[in-house]
Amino acid sequence: MASAPESAVDSPALHVDRVSKTFGDTVAVREASFEVERGEIVALLGPSGCGKSTTLRVLAGFEHPDEGVVRINGETAVDASVWHPPERRRIGMVPQDFALFPHLSVADNIGFGLSSGHHAWWRRPLRRLRGVEAPPRVREMLELVGLEDFGERFPHELSGGEAQRVALARALAPQPAAVLLDEPFSNLDQNLRASLRLAMRNILKSANTAAVFVTHDREEALSLADRVAVMRDGTIEQIGAPDDIYYRPGTRFIGTFVGDANILPGQRVRGGAETELGFVILGNQSAVEGSDSFDILLRPEQLALKPTDPSDPASARVISSEYYGHDQVVRVRLPSGAEVETRLRTEVVWHPDDSVSVVVLDDAVGFPR
Ligand code: ATP
Repeated sequence: MASAPESAVDSPALHVDRVSKTFGDTVAVREASFEVERGEIVALLGPSGCGKSTTLRVLAGFEHPDEGVVRINGETAVDASVWHPPERRRIGMVPQDFALFPHLSVADNIGFGLSSGHHAWWRRPLRRLRGVEAPPRVREMLELVGLEDFGERFPHELSGGEAQRVALARALAPQPAAVLLDEPFSNLDQNLRASLRLAMRNILKSANTAAVFVTHDREEALSLADRVAVMRDGTIEQIGAPDDIYYRPGTRFIGTFVGDANILPGQRVRGGAETELGFVILGNQSAVEGSDSFDILLRPEQLALKPTDPSDPASARVISSEYYGHDQVVRVRLPSGAEVETRLRTEVVWHPDDSVSVVVLDDAVGFPR
């Protein structure tokens, strides 16, 4: 029996089901599946070459997947028998270099593609708006991105952060089901990135559009996204809220990729694991079911230090400390020779050669060896 078509209202903005894409011998994307709700921001995070951009290009319609289904607001854009080209998809793109039209004003850039009521701005013939008042939607977009007074400027008169906001406004103007952003901060000054992340998050949330952005920067993914999909070798290894990915990574790769990690050998004991730092509770018992020995992961901020008597053979030693004011990163050598990194508040400042014991503050996660 044929299934009833999903209603656009109930469907997620983006539905991606077992999408695969191969180039020759390279599997760029392997059975990627995820959904993005309206107003939700999802990051595709992973090292270079893991398939992030290819996934984005499949969603936009610039790549044809070998297999899989993409639905946009409940409408099938790709499956075994359907193929919608980019201009038929309700998708807005923010390219890595923003790709603003240099000879058009900011208002014209944003209005580009609106005149025909079509969202595919990159295919539309140029239409100049200069000299006439910008249409209401353009003014609305200028306001949304905080550039009300910039409509008459040209791209070369903008800072990197302003150009990024214009590109975002242009992508959002035709009210797409989703916007896709390719490495949105890679062209921007390092010092500006943190404040621009917050600005972009606020704009996307006000627009209530689904957004997917690609990055290899873990801080960018964790701070901007509602959910993070971590990719490796073409596969989405885990998708979850930032704190899930960070404190409950499903694999050792994710644990070390998304943050600084201490990895130590552990032996199974009742309720957790015995380690060189003593007994730790495992937050993911089931992941190491059946193994007597495995590795455990603790983040630097999940550890604390206590001073000890230097003559105590069980003491650890501070080998380096970096003081940052708001916190300090202190590396410690354990009696076995293993090293751990701690991130601590600064009421007590630690120095190399201090004699310490390491206290575990939280549950650890375990991974099979
Ligand atoms: P980066 O962060 O470096 O942009 P990425 O995670 O976005 O990397 P992709 O660009 O999606 O990775 O590439 C995934 C794999 O597919 C890589 O091995 C890449 O070399 C390969 N690939 C991508 N596009 C093509 C193409 N058009 N032809 C051949 N191989 C390709």
